Amino acid sequence: MIEKTIDVIIPCYNEEDNIRAVYEETCRVETEILGYSFKYIFINDGSSDGTLDAIRELAAGDKRVKYISFSRNFGKEAAMYAGICNSKGDYAVIMDADLQHPPALIKEMLDTIETTGCDCCAARRVTRRGEQKIRSLGARLFYKLMNRFSEIEIADGVLDYRLMNRNMVRAIRQMPENQRFSKGIFAWVGFDTRWVEFENVKRVRGESKWSLFALIKYAMDGFINFAVSPLKFAGWFGGLAACGSALYLIAEIVKTLIMGRDTPGYASTICLILFFGGLTIAILALIGEYIGRMYMETKGRPVYIEKESNIHEDED
Ligand code: UDP
Ligand code: MG
Repeated sequence: MIEKTIDVIIPCYNEEDNIRAVYEETCRVETEILGYSFKYIFINDGSSDGTLDAIRELAAGDKRVKYISFSRNFGKEAAMYAGICNSKGDYAVIMDADLQHPPALIKEMLDTIETTGCDCCAARRVTRRGEQKIRSLGARLFYKLMNRFSEIEIADGVLDYRLMNRNMVRAIRQMPENQRFSKGIFAWVGFDTRWVEFENVKRVRGESKWSLFALIKYAMDGFINFAVSPLKFAGWFGGLAACGSALYLIAEIVKTLIMGRDTPGYASTICLILFFGGLTIAILALIGEYIGRMYMETKGRPVYIEKESNIHEDED
């Protein structure tokens, strides 16, 4: 029987303590899966610690370990894309380096794909235990808004941790956009996706690279990249506000004609000026955000820049 291959893509940013652990755990899982062999693609996303050395060490001892090292930190989205671009196996799985994505789930995902014939199987957290309250609340709100206002549907708790077949990998590769939001991209390319559920696990070593600010930016990216409705909403709101103020003006004129001029009303005028001034600036800022993104995208810069890699060594 010919063995099928699974590329395990692991984005790493300052994960020196986790590299070996995640590798060993994944190797252990591999021995439990018959008929498949694993290949590892580690992406060193410009780490400032010994991550690259740890990966090099693994690569020296195991020919199946490939890596790409970026010239600086480009972010997890870019790292995942680099992995996808270099995946040649029958399947690819994207997994965090911190063991928060239990490698044992790969087996379950593979079972799901084999039994149902679907294209992709993603992990989904059923609990957000071990996570800050504010963070899970923010995440919930984000998914609610996203599903309501954008043209794609993203299930709450769905992770980047997923196993997908060659077709889906190819489809994602065709989306070279700079401002990437993978959860949106996975949903946008379509394909039959199933879920496996698991309990949230706490990070073993090191700490999360996401600050609250970074998460807000991530949510904004997701929203603006996949929804034009904020612009439509701004348009509607602006239009309604304009109509409302026109009516108010007419009412004021009629009132002055009938009852004569009076000085009070000064406060309400200022209020209205401030309100609409603020509104205009807010809407302009929103439009500016889209234009800024278009500007960045039209530059057509590469998503990431490779500094060192062993992945091209055995290419024919
Ligand atoms: N990561 C990355 N580049 C970054 C930030 C994170 O490659 O700029 C990797 C990180 O090494 C880990 C995964 O992305 O393997 C998830 O990061 P983290 O654990 O910090 O996120 P969280 O689990 O808190 O969402
Ligand atoms: Mg993590």
